[in-house]
Amino acid sequence: LTEPLVSQISTVTDHQPASMAAFWMPFTANRQFKSAPRMLTSASGMYFENDKGQQILDGCAGLWCVNAGHGREAISEAVARQVSQLDYAPPFQMGHPLAFEFAERLIQHTPPNLNHVFFTNSGSESVETALKIALNYHRLKGQGTRQRLIGRERSYHGVNFGGISVGGIVNNRKTFGSGLPGTDHLPHTLNIDLNAFSRGLPEHGTELADALEQLIALHDASNIAAVIVEPVAGSGGVIMPPVGYLQKLREITRKHGILLIFDEVITGFGRVGEAFAASRWGIEPDIMTTAKGLTNGAIPMGAVFVSDAIHDAFMTGPESMIELFHGYTYSGHPVACAAGLAALDIYEQEGLFQRTLAMEPVFEAGLHSLKGLPGLIDIRNIGLIGAIELQPLDGQPGERGRRVFQHCYEQGVLVRWTGDILAMSPPLIIEKEHIRQLVNTLKEGIQLAFQNHE
Ligand code: PLP
Repeated sequence: LTEPLVSQISTVTDHQPASMAAFWMPFTANRQFKSAPRMLTSASGMYFENDKGQQILDGCAGLWCVNAGHGREAISEAVARQVSQLDYAPPFQMGHPLAFEFAERLIQHTPPNLNHVFFTNSGSESVETALKIALNYHRLKGQGTRQRLIGRERSYHGVNFGGISVGGIVNNRKTFGSGLPGTDHLPHTLNIDLNAFSRGLPEHGTELADALEQLIALHDASNIAAVIVEPVAGSGGVIMPPVGYLQKLREITRKHGILLIFDEVITGFGRVGEAFAASRWGIEPDIMTTAKGLTNGAIPMGAVFVSDAIHDAFMTGPESMIELFHGYTYSGHPVACAAGLAALDIYEQEGLFQRTLAMEPVFEAGLHSLKGLPGLIDIRNIGLIGAIELQPLDGQPGERGRRVFQHCYEQGVLVRWTGDILAMSPPLIIEKEHIRQLVNTLKEGIQLAFQNHE
């Protein structure tokens, strides 16, 4: 960088903007935020630093994505190198080596049947891509009546129209019209009455997968294209699959020729141990979506993994024909591929997916040590993802969760809050002392949220 450019950049980053009005922030209470901003200015390892110079322990891996921790030099160097070597290459009818290399490297980590990769720029785009591939596949197989898509209550599949149609979070759906026609939802699997404070996968609720048989009886399998589920639902409140539930979904979908899509945007790249949750539970979905940890969050990128059977069904017409009329200007972007390859090197070299399994019992013990605090109605965890659920305050749902979040932030710990559920998903490099800090700060926050509100 030339000198004048350096000073220009530091002018921009060193000062608060004169006004915060122009930036309409996503999924944010804009007016509340702008009256008391929480501004992050740098990050390294397990910590962010904010504009007050305070260290903030990252209990969320950013937004479930910075799995190898912040400020990884190998990633920033790879990105800088790539921008200067090949900043962009058009992805339609043109290629560049990194996209092919990255795809080959990625499939070393997917379930054995998923050997083909379609690149996108986000989890939402991965979901849309997966749904479109499912519909197109059935048509290619002469089963074009298979058009219905089945999601699940409380599921999150991004914010685009396909994703919100199969998604099950009411606030993300209710103000945007009627969505895709022909979608249904399985029941969610959260049952605090039966499964509260379970560790790992809950015992009760396997039979909830039978709701799929009911939908098949109602619509007939010949009209159903795919079922999409998050193996562990994140944004809907960290909801675990009961023991045997995912296997049952796999059996039913296979029996009826329905595709099973695992949305592994959160669970991918070691969050629950193993590269993908599917592998932890020995399941082979037909399609798997991911994003986030794909580049350690450093550059936006998503990917869709597709089975040999699906991929091969597309590779049948004349060779001069475009097989799938779908793709993005930035699909397989060279800079994103460079970031992804560097991230994958780190995951592999540091054994981070296995590390999740090693840290799981420590994380679990830490979170469950909070049992017994006032108004705490559930703690659930698997791998390095966990949640604490609080009894909502009468007439003010979400307020207690917000209070705990705010307290933690002020005390230098970032957790995520959705309603009265606090979600934790730290970088996989987390150490015992970080878990201690996280748990102690949560404890104070929960105690205060109740004192102030009883
Ligand atoms: N699917 C799941 C399971 C997610 O958790 C998310 C984001 O949190 C998405 C899709 C959407 O990803 P993005 O925000 O990158 O579009």
